[in-house]
This record gives sequence, structure tokens and C-alpha cells, in this order.
Amino acid sequence: MVARTDLVTHPAAIAGLLLARRGQAYYSRKLNELTDAEFDGATLLPGWSRRELIAHVGLNARALTRLIEWAATGIETPMYESMAQRDEEIALSATLPALALRNLSDHAAIHLTVEWRDLPDADWSNLVRTAQGRTVPVSETVWMRTREVWIHAVDLANGGRFDDIPAPVIDRLLREVLSAWDRRRVAESLPVFAFEATDRSAPFLSTDVTSDVVLRGTAASLAQWATGRGAEGVTTAVGQPAPEPPHWL
Ligand code: ZN
Repeated sequence: MVARTDLVTHPAAIAGLLLARRGQAYYSRKLNELTDAEFDGATLLPGWSRRELIAHVGLNARALTRLIEWAATGIETPMYESMAQRDEEIALSATLPALALRNLSDHAAIHLTVEWRDLPDADWSNLVRTAQGRTVPVSETVWMRTREVWIHAVDLANGGRFDDIPAPVIDRLLREVLSAWDRRRVAESLPVFAFEATDRSAPFLSTDVTSDVVLRGTAASLAQWATGRGAEGVTTAVGQPAPEPPHWL
């Protein structure tokens, strides 16, 4: 079925789709501000050129599209055949002419949003498997893409800022990073972190346990630090420089 508007009616899904599409628009705007020659420049991700990042974000949309097709048809279509295949495809696509990379970015994004639009309410809870091997309801693809486009728009390194990311996305990132660290705490001997956002009314805590390290800054700068993108605007609660964060994903 091809619909002109989203078939999903659940308010949380509708709100999530809006943030994903706003993120895609923001990412596409930052990408379109780059000249073809600037595609060869560096990103904020160590070792990644803009070409590689643009290829990755486009291919991520295609991979998520496969998950929605899986949910819609019941025919298993994983995001990637393997991590090696994923990496090879990024490396290969990064060598495309700039126009082809732009087309990959645009077409993959449109295809993804059409698949979301045409997925009936009843199918949004169908289970699929992510590239990390997690089994999740397909509705999770909306957040997976949201996170991807907003953060990688900043990674393009041409003026995108965490300050531009909507508060619900920032807050969910902060909660997500804390719970990821929480799950790995024992195995990796991580301290208990907490975030004291100067522009939020309540702190971000992952447990009831007293925190070993409290970080303070705006929610956006805390999210930037927590996702490994620099400590600008972040200190500990006692005014010390922020430590290196554990890795996030
Ligand atoms: Zn990514």
C-alpha cells in the first residue's frame, strides 16, 4: 500500500518520526552546504573523511530500510551481511563522484521515510535484529536514525552544533549513554557517572547509587562529551576538567 501520510497513529511514534525527519533535514542541509571539493575534508571522527561519513549515513538509511521491509513482509533482511561487508561498502561508496554521493544520501533518506510512512500500525511492534545483534521492535529504527543524523550532522564539521539538536533527542542520548555505561560497569570497572544539566530541572542518573563522577554543563554540551565529541563546556561538579568518557556504543 502506498499512503500519502503516515499510517502509524501512535502519538509516540508520530513524535519520534518528526524528530527523525527534522534530523535528516538538518543533516542534509549541512551536507548541501559543502562543496564537492570539501567532501575530501576531515570529520570530527578520527580517521574518517567526509566522503566516508556521507557514504556511511546514506548506507545506514538503506540498512534501516531493510529492517522496515523485514517487519512489513516477515522476510528476514538484515541490515548488513556482516560487519566486514558493511565496512567494505562504506569504503567503496566513499570513492564515488561527489554527485553520486549526494544522490545516495538523498535517495536513501527518501526511501527510508517512505517505508516508515507506509508501515501499518499493526507492524510497528514486529521484531527485527540490529547490526549489533539486538532484537528490537522495528519502531526502534526511528530512534536509531534520529541519533545517527543529528550527531553525524555535527561530525560533518562545517558548523553543525549539539546546541541545534532538539531537547528530547539530547535528553534521550544522555539517558542512553548512562544506561550503556551502567550495563558495562562491572565488566569494565567503570565509575558511576551522573549528569547535572544546568538547563534542566532534574539530574540524569542511571542508578540510585551515589555517583562517583558528576559532570556539569548544559544538556547539549554533556551529550557532546558523553558521545565522545569533546569536553567543551563540561566540568565535574567540583569544577575539575572532565575526564575522558568511556566509549558509548
Ligand atoms: Zn553512524
